[in-house]
Amino acid sequence: MDIQAPRGVRDILPDESWKWAYVLNSVAKVMADFGHSEIHLPIFENTELFSRGVGETTDIVEKEMYTFTDRGSRSLTLRPEATAGMVRAALEHGMCSQNAAARLWCWGPMFRYERPQKGRYRQFFQIDAEVLGIAGPAADVDTIALSVEMFRRLALRGLRVALNSVGCPQCRPAYRDALLAYFGANRDALCETCQARLERNPLRVLDCKSASCSAVADAAPAIYDHLCPECAAHFDEVKSGLARLGLPFSLDKRLVRGLDYYTKTAYEIISGDLSQGAQNAVCGGGRYDNLAESIGGPHTPGVGFAAGIDRIVLVMEEQNCSFGKRAQTEVYIVARDDASRPTAQVLAGKLRSAGISAAYDAGDSVKYARSFKAQMKSALSARWQCIIEANGTFTLSGGGSDLTLTEGELVNYIEEHR
Ligand code: ATP
Ligand code: MG
Repeated sequence: MDIQAPRGVRDILPDESWKWAYVLNSVAKVMADFGHSEIHLPIFENTELFSRGVGETTDIVEKEMYTFTDRGSRSLTLRPEATAGMVRAALEHGMCSQNAAARLWCWGPMFRYERPQKGRYRQFFQIDAEVLGIAGPAADVDTIALSVEMFRRLALRGLRVALNSVGCPQCRPAYRDALLAYFGANRDALCETCQARLERNPLRVLDCKSASCSAVADAAPAIYDHLCPECAAHFDEVKSGLARLGLPFSLDKRLVRGLDYYTKTAYEIISGDLSQGAQNAVCGGGRYDNLAESIGGPHTPGVGFAAGIDRIVLVMEEQNCSFGKRAQTEVYIVARDDASRPTAQVLAGKLRSAGISAAYDAGDSVKYARSFKAQMKSALSARWQCIIEANGTFTLSGGGSDLTLTEGELVNYIEEHR
């Protein structure tokens, strides 16, 4: 076939999709336990939502968005992340008016034009949770606790919470100046990309993965020395809140996140085990008190996180974590001859109505019907194989020795032995 999936996107095949269902089931339960309601958001939004919300000088907006013009000449963008859409929806539907907080979550595909590699795709999936309408640090702690609990229930090991504060519009300009002065003096040691964007966004150099920038950034001024009293107090309370809950974290002064909307708390959850270099972040989040205003809404503080489902499943596979039991068809019905094919169809219907999963070879003419042997081969993946006999009875195998049963006995037997 000459048409294949586009570069960087992949099909999640049945051998993997059942693992996703396990993860999402577990996540849905944690979300409910933390009081978050599920929301389904559009996959595409007006481009402005991201250019204004995520920020013009971010990698995402500068070079990673899938933007297109629709037939009505509107500029639309496949969502590269979920937070901006979540805030847009909450404001549009008045979900956090009158100081009532909105606790929401969603999951689904995100799109970024990135260099595809293991754990990095152009269509990838995120779980996203947000608390909107609360400015205080308790919401940050609750959000971090939620993400940690999510991974605890999935039994992921070796995760590390890296924490930082990125300040606010009051304290960041002075820090930005200090960074500009420092990086400016070391300009020649920076990678080309960072040299080019230094003036526009010196904070970005801090999380540049290139070895040369890393070395320079390690000795860069720390934001802790520049936080305004409010941000410093907020940061202290987040740290003491996490300590109170017994949640370990390490401070990372270079953690700035790739989206401009963050204020105060920024954090990531990193897998120490993952043998995939830069693709080791399974979750990232933080506070974004000015995002709502930047997209034209009223001041609405918020805090949340996004976790990559593709990477979570990857780490769980590497760590041999349990995905529960893969669902298996219970009964596969096999017709010995063409005459019993209609019986297979009717019996499948009866079993399904009784809540028993059933499959059969749906070929219904000589041309499409598969041989007894071919049917038996398919049947072996089911819990039981049920052969229709000429005398109206059924031979059930799969539970030790074969049994000869009538239709009524068959349903009873399966109900008792499943
Ligand atoms: P990275 O540093 O790995 O590029 P990021 O900071 O760009 O991650 P976020 O925007 O914070 O990622 O998204 C949150 C999570 O989504 C990440 O921690 C990761 O698990 C996942 N993620 C981000 N980009 C991709 C991608 N291209 N493919 C697969 N998963 C991704
Ligand atoms: Mg990225």
